[in-house]
Amino acid sequence: MPRMATRTPSADARTGEIVHTNDAAPSSWGLGDGAAIPWEYAPAPESRDVVTLKERYGLFIGGRDVAASDGGTFATINPATEEPLALVARGTPADMDRGVRAARKAFRRSWGSLSGRERAKYLFRIARILQERSREFAVLESMDSGKPIKESRDVDVPLAAAHFWYYAGWADKLEYAFPGRVARPLGVAGQIIPWNFPLLMLAWKIAPALAAGNTVVLKPASTTPLSALLFADVCQQADLPPGVVNIIPGPGEVGMSLVTHPDVDKVAFTGSTDIGKRIAKGVAGSNKALTLELGGKAANIVFDDAPLDQAVEGIVNGIYFNQGEVCCAGSRLLAQESIVEPLIEKLKDRLATIRVGDPLDKNTDVGAINSRAQLEKITELVAAGQAEGAEMYQPACDLPARGYFFRPTLFTNVAQSHRIAREEIFGPVLSVLTFRTPDEAVEKANNTPYGLSAGIWTDKGSRILHMVRKMKAGVVWANTFNRFDPTSPFGGYKESGFGREGGMHGLHAYVRLEDR
Ligand code: NDP
Repeated sequence: MPRMATRTPSADARTGEIVHTNDAAPSSWGLGDGAAIPWEYAPAPESRDVVTLKERYGLFIGGRDVAASDGGTFATINPATEEPLALVARGTPADMDRGVRAARKAFRRSWGSLSGRERAKYLFRIARILQERSREFAVLESMDSGKPIKESRDVDVPLAAAHFWYYAGWADKLEYAFPGRVARPLGVAGQIIPWNFPLLMLAWKIAPALAAGNTVVLKPASTTPLSALLFADVCQQADLPPGVVNIIPGPGEVGMSLVTHPDVDKVAFTGSTDIGKRIAKGVAGSNKALTLELGGKAANIVFDDAPLDQAVEGIVNGIYFNQGEVCCAGSRLLAQESIVEPLIEKLKDRLATIRVGDPLDKNTDVGAINSRAQLEKITELVAAGQAEGAEMYQPACDLPARGYFFRPTLFTNVAQSHRIAREEIFGPVLSVLTFRTPDEAVEKANNTPYGLSAGIWTDKGSRILHMVRKMKAGVVWANTFNRFDPTSPFGGYKESGFGREGGMHGLHAYVRLEDR
C-alpha cells in the first residue's frame, strides 16, 4: 500500500523563511513522474452547534442559579481566539459562606443520612448524563480551555464519567472498602480545582466526596469555569438534592475564604505548589482534613534496550499531551548516553508531524495555551533555557495569527542546574538530559523538589522493578506514560503534595473511620 507523502519543512534559500514542501511521490504510484504532490490535512472542525452558550452564568448554590452577592461578573475567553465566551458571576467571600451553609443544610437534611444505595443511584445517573452529553461537554471544554477536541472527547470527558461510575459502585460498599471499620462522611468538603483538566478534576473531587456521603462547595479556576457550570445543569437534571453540590467561580482569594471557612470539614486542592503551601497554612491549626495535589517535574527515563519508536510515542504523549499543561507531564527526558543521538533524531522527525492549531479541529494534536499569563510564563522559561546555554529545537509549523499558541519545543545540552530542568514549565517544552548507569538515572530523576510521577522505558522487567523501588514518585509508568484509571490512586510526595485521589485511597480521603 502506498504511503502518504509527508511534509518536509526547509528554509527558503532566497528569503530564509521556513517553507513546506512535500516529498515526491514514487512514480510507481501512478501519480505522474514523481513530482511533488500538494498535500495537506483538510480542516476537520467539530461543530460548535452542540453547545448553547448562555450570555451570563450565575453561581450554583442550593440547587439554584444565583447572582454574586455584589452583582460582579467576569468574562471567560476562548484562548484559541481571544474572544469572550460568556460572562460569569464572580463569587465573593459572602457567596462562599452561602455555599457552605447550603452544603451543610443538605448534609444534615438529606445527603448525610441517605443510604449508600440511594447515593449510588444519583452518581450512576450523573455518570450516564455525562456520557449522554459527552459531545457538548467536550466541545465546551475545548472552547474554554484550549485543549484539542480529540483529547477532551477521548480522555477528559470519558474519564470524568468513569470516575462517577466507579465511585457510584463504592457508595453502598464502604464496609468492604474499610473492613472492620465504620466509614462516616466528613461533612462539607471545600474543593478548589485548576484549569488544565477542568471537568476531570471536578470529577476526581466530587465523585468520591459524594459517594462517601459528603456535600461539596467547589471553586473552578477563573479561566475555565464553564464545564463546571454545565455540570451544575447535570446535577439539576439528575435531581440531586439542592445544596449537595455547590459551584462558585471567583478569584483565587475567594478560594481562600472557602479554605478558612469554619464550617468546612475537608479541603481538597489541585494547583500550584505555591498556592498549595498557602492553603496548608490556612488549614493549619484546624481540624480540617486536607489533600493537596500540586506540581511536578517528572523524569521519563529511556534505557538503551528500550524499543525506541515506542518510547518516542511515550515521550511525545508525556510532554505534548494537553500542551504540556499536565502536573505529571514527563518534562525531563533522561536518555541513556549510548542511544541519545538516534532517540533525538527520531523525536525531531516525530515533532515535525505534530499539528498545532485550532483546538476544535479533530486533527489538532497541540491546541492553545490556557491563558496569556501561562503563555508568558512558558515564553519566559524558554528564553531562560536559551540564555543558560541549552540548545533549542522547534519544528517549523505555522501558528494561528490569534490566540495563545506555542510550538512544541525540545531542549538538548540541558544541565541539571538550568531552570528548564528544575522548574515546572507547564507547557509543551521538553528538556533532555543524559545518564550512563541506572544509579545515575535514579539520582537525576529524584533530584527535584517534586515527586509526582516518572516513566521508565526498558525491555527488562527486572530493571523496571528495581527502578520503581528507587523512584521517589507517587506514580511510575513503565513502557507507557500518562495512563489514568479511576481505580488507580494518584498523588505525590514532597512538594507535589500529599493524599491520594482515585481508587479506594480516594475514598479514604473523604471518610472518618470509627471502630465498630
Ligand atoms: P493556581 O495554583 O494559582 O490555581 C489553581 C486554583 O487555585 C485555581 O482555582 C485558582 O483560582 C485557585 N487559587 C489561586 N489563588 C488562590 C488562593 N490564594 N487561595 C485559594 N485558591 C487559590 O495555579 P495558576 O493558575 O496560577 O498556575 C500557575 C502555575 O501552577 C502553572 O504554571 C503550573 O506550573 C502550576 N499548576 C499546576 C497544576 C497542577 O495540576 N498541579 C494546575 C494548575 C497550575 P483562580 O483561577 O481564580 O486564580
